[in-house]
Amino acid sequence: MVKDGELVVDYKSLGLTVGLEIHQQLATKTKLFCGCPAELTDNEYGVFERRLRPTRSEIGEVDIAALFEWKKGRVYEYQAPIGHSCLVEADEEPPHPINKEAVIIAMAIAKALNSWIVDEIHVMRKVVIDGSNTSGFQRTAIVALGGYISVAGKNYSIETIAVEEDAARKISEKGLKTIYKLDRLGIPLIEISTGPDIHDPKEAYEVALAVGRLLRLTGKVKRGLGTIRQDLNVSIKNGAITEIKGVQRLDLIPKVIVYEALRQSRLLEIKNELKSRGVKKEDVVNQVPVDVTSLFRKSNSRIIKRVLSTGGKVYAVRLPKFKGLIGKELMPGRRLGTEFADYARFWAGVGGIFHSDELPNYGISKDEVNNVYKALKINPNSDAFVLVAEKEKRALKAIEAVLRRAAMSIDGVPAETRAALEDGTTKYLRPRPGKARMYPETDIPPLDITEEMHDKAEKIKPETLEVKIKRFKEDYRLGDELIEKVIKNVRLDLIEKLMEKYKKVVSPKIIASLFTVTLKGLKREGVDIDSISDEQLEELVDMIARGKVAKEAAEDLLKAASANPSKGIEDLAKEMGLMGISKEEAEGIIDIIIKENIESILNRGERSMSLIMGKVMSKLRGKIDGKIVAEIVKRKIDDILSNKSH
Ligand SMILES: [Zn+2]
Repeated sequence: MVKDGELVVDYKSLGLTVGLEIHQQLATKTKLFCGCPAELTDNEYGVFERRLRPTRSEIGEVDIAALFEWKKGRVYEYQAPIGHSCLVEADEEPPHPINKEAVIIAMAIAKALNSWIVDEIHVMRKVVIDGSNTSGFQRTAIVALGGYISVAGKNYSIETIAVEEDAARKISEKGLKTIYKLDRLGIPLIEISTGPDIHDPKEAYEVALAVGRLLRLTGKVKRGLGTIRQDLNVSIKNGAITEIKGVQRLDLIPKVIVYEALRQSRLLEIKNELKSRGVKKEDVVNQVPVDVTSLFRKSNSRIIKRVLSTGGKVYAVRLPKFKGLIGKELMPGRRLGTEFADYARFWAGVGGIFHSDELPNYGISKDEVNNVYKALKINPNSDAFVLVAEKEKRALKAIEAVLRRAAMSIDGVPAETRAALEDGTTKYLRPRPGKARMYPETDIPPLDITEEMHDKAEKIKPETLEVKIKRFKEDYRLGDELIEKVIKNVRLDLIEKLMEKYKKVVSPKIIASLFTVTLKGLKREGVDIDSISDEQLEELVDMIARGKVAKEAAEDLLKAASANPSKGIEDLAKEMGLMGISKEEAEGIIDIIIKENIESILNRGERSMSLIMGKVMSKLRGKIDGKIVAEIVKRKIDDILSNKSH
C-alpha cells in the first residue's frame, strides 16, 4: 500500500528474510598467501594474458556457474605491479602458508562475536571464473562458527567467520576482454555471514552498521570506500534466495532490500497471472524463432538499420499469452523485459532486445508490429513477442536465453546472483553457483590454532560498546552527545588513540569534537574530508598539543589538508602563516596594542576589555589559543587600572 506518497510494505506478511555477508579488508602488513604488501599501488606493471577454464572439483562435477562463465570465451589481461605482486598472484608459484596476523585479527573479531573458534584452519578453494583470480578460484578458510551480535536488544546469529583473499581489481571491460590489476589480489578479507534472521530492511542496515563498527573497533581493518563490501541474501515467502553482490554504501542496504522484495513479489504476481492464463513451460521453451528480416528492410529504427547494414538479421519469437506482462515494472526502471534483456546480454552478448509491450517505439512502426504478429501467426490480443536484431548465431542464442528466462517466470523467482547498482536497483549477474563450489587447497598445510594465538587475539579483541561508552564518560569526561558522535565515527580507532596519547595536554573533548563537529561542518561546506589522511589528523593534534598551532587554526588547516593530502600540516601551516606564536611573542604584540589604546582603557575601565580583545585577536587569530590571549589582556588591563587607582 501507499501512504504519504511512500510505499509502505508489511514485510512480515511478505515473509522477507535477509542474511548479510560482510567482507572487510584487514590492515595486515602482507597479503594472505605471500609476502607482498597488502596495499593498492600505482607502481609500474608488467602485463600477461590468460584464458580460464572450468576446474574439475575433486568430486568430479564441473561447477555449473563456472562452466557458464567460461562458455562466454573471455580473455583476461593482468597488470602485475612491481613490488605489489609476485609469482603467487601470477599463479606461477604455490601459495605460502596462511598469514597468521590475519587469522589472529579474525579470531579477535570472532571472540567479540561470541563465536566458536576452530582448532585447525583448513584452506579451501572456491571456484570463481570471472577472471578476478588468476588461479580460477579464491582461497578461503573458516576461522570460527556460530555466535551472535546484539543490536537494540535483539541477538542476530552469526553463521561463519572466514578469512579469504580479495580478488584482483577490475580496471576495464571491453568486448570479450577484461583487464585486472593484481595489487588487490590476495589482500586478506574477513567474511562474516549472519544467519537469515533479519526480516526488515532497516534492521539489515542496523546489523551491518553494528558489525562494521565492531570491525573498526579492533583498529586492525582498513577504512575508506571499497575496503568494506556487503552482499545480501534476500528472499520473500514463495520467492527464491537472491544473492546481491557488492553493496558498497551502508545506506543503500535498505533500498536494495526494498527493491528486491518488490521485484520478487511482482514476479510472483506474474507467475500467478501466467498460471491463470494456462501457460505451460513447454509451450514457451519450444517456440521456434522466425526470421523477419524482410519485414524490416525499410525500417526507420536506427538499431535495426545498423544491424542490417552489417549483415545481421532480425528474429522474432512468440511468447504465448504473455501480453502485458513483459512491460510490467519489477522495480524502478526495470521491467520483466529488462530481465529478458539481461539474459540475452549475459548468454549471447547481445546489447538489447525489443518486446511487443513497448512497441511501437524506437523507430519501429505500428505496421511493422502488426506484420510481425501476422508473420508469427499469433493473437495480438493475448500473445507477446520478442525481437532480436543481431548476427544470426548470436541472435538465435539470445532468443534461446530469453525463452529460458520467460519459462522461468512460470515458476516465479529464479535463483540468481545479481549486482547492486548505484541507485539501489540490481541487475542479473549469473546463475547462483552449484554445489561443487568448494574443495580443499592441497598446496597449503592446515594451521593449528595455538594458545599463543588465542592470547594474542584476546589482547586485540574489541571491547563491547557498553564498556567503551562507560570509559569515554569516566576517563575522558565526554558528554553523551559527543560520545554518540564519536562511536559512529569511521575514525573511532584513531580518535581513541589520540585522546589517550594526548589526554594530559589536550582535552579529549577538543580532539573528539575536531573529528566529529569540525569535520562534519567542513563536509557540509563541501570539503572532501575523506581525503584528509590519518597522518595529517594526527600531526594536527600533535601540533595543537605542543602549542605550535592554535586549535582555532584547525578548520583552515584541515581544508588545506583535504586539498593537499600528501602534505604535512606543519608545511601547510607555514605556507598559510598559521604557525603559532609563543606566549611571550603574544605578550609583546598585546603590549603594543594596549599602548596605542591606553586612553580608551583609562576612560572605559574594565569595559575596554572587548575593544582590546577585538584588536588583539584580529592580529593573533589562529596563531594562539584565544583563551590564553584573553587571560593576558585581562591581566594587563587589571594592572593598568589598579595602578591608576593608586
Ligand atoms: Zn605476492
